[in-house]
Amino acid sequence: RLTWSQPASDAGPVDLHIDQPHSARIYDYLLGGKDHFPADREAAEKALAGFPHARTTARQNRAFMIRAARHVAEAGVRQFLDIGTGIPTSPNLHEIVQGIAPDAQIVYTDNDPIVLTHARALLTGSPAGRAVYLDADLHDVEAILDSAVLRDTIDFSRPVGLFVVAVLHFFPDGDDPYGILRRLVESLPAGSYLALTHGTSDFDPAVDAQGEQAYRNRGIPLRLRRRAEIERFFDGLDLLDPGVRPVHRWRPDDSVPAGLKDAEVGIYGAVARRP
Ligand code: SAH
Repeated sequence: RLTWSQPASDAGPVDLHIDQPHSARIYDYLLGGKDHFPADREAAEKALAGFPHARTTARQNRAFMIRAARHVAEAGVRQFLDIGTGIPTSPNLHEIVQGIAPDAQIVYTDNDPIVLTHARALLTGSPAGRAVYLDADLHDVEAILDSAVLRDTIDFSRPVGLFVVAVLHFFPDGDDPYGILRRLVESLPAGSYLALTHGTSDFDPAVDAQGEQAYRNRGIPLRLRRRAEIERFFDGLDLLDPGVRPVHRWRPDDSVPAGLKDAEVGIYGAVARRP
C-alpha cells in the first residue's frame, strides 16, 4: 500500500552529516528508535539533562498526531500533506488514515537526508502508490506547493489535512513561520484541516530554556513559544474543541497516562478547520 516516489534530483548518494546533530534523529532517539548517531545522542542527552521530560514530550506529541489524524480522516478528509514528517515511526500517518479510508492519499515531506534514505528504502517499485515522499525544505514553501509530486497526488479542489507537527519550533521569528504557514493554509480549500503542535516554555521557563539552549548550542535553532504565540498560527481558522492545549489534553485516550502534568509535556497542539 505504500509507494515512496523519489524525485529524480535525489538519485545521487546522500550525505547524512553524521557529525552534526539533526532534529529528526534526536527525536528518533527520544522516541526509542534506532536511527541516530553519537552526535545526535549527545545532543539528546544534553537536552534531557536540561529538560528531563523530553522523552515523555516526544511520545505524547506522537500520540497527539495519531489522534488528530484519526479525527481528520473520520471527518471525511482523504488527502493529507505531512510536513516535517520525521523518520518513519509506526504507526505513520498513512497507516492511521488508510486504516480508516484505504483510498487516502498522503504526501510526506521533510528536508532531512536520513528521512530521504528511509523513503528510498521503502520504495516498493509499484507504480500505484498512495503515499509519496517529497524531499523539500519548508522555508521554500513555494517549492513544496509547486512540486509535481504534490500536484500529481493532491486535488486542491478537495479538502486536505495539513499536518505540521513539531516543526515550527525550529523556525525562529526571522524565518517567518507565520507567513509560511499562512501561505500553506491559503492554498487549501474550505473544509481543510490543520493539525499543528509546537514546543512551549510556558510551564517551566527556566528548565525549558536549558533544553532550548542544548539544541541551539549544537546549531539547531529551537524557538519555544508561549501559548498566545502558538494560537496565532490558527488565525482565520476555526479551532476544534478543546482549542490549543498541551497535547495530552487534546481529546486524550488511553495513550495518556493518568496524572500527567503540563510541565512534563511542554508542547501545545490543536486541530482547526478552514471555514
Ligand atoms: N512530525 C513528526 C516529526 C517531528 S521531528 C512528529 O511529530 O512525530 C521534526 C521534523 O521536522 C524532523 O524530521 C525535521 O527534519 C523536520 N524539519 C525541521 N526543519 C524542517 C524544514 N525546514 N523543512 C522540512 N522539514 C523540517
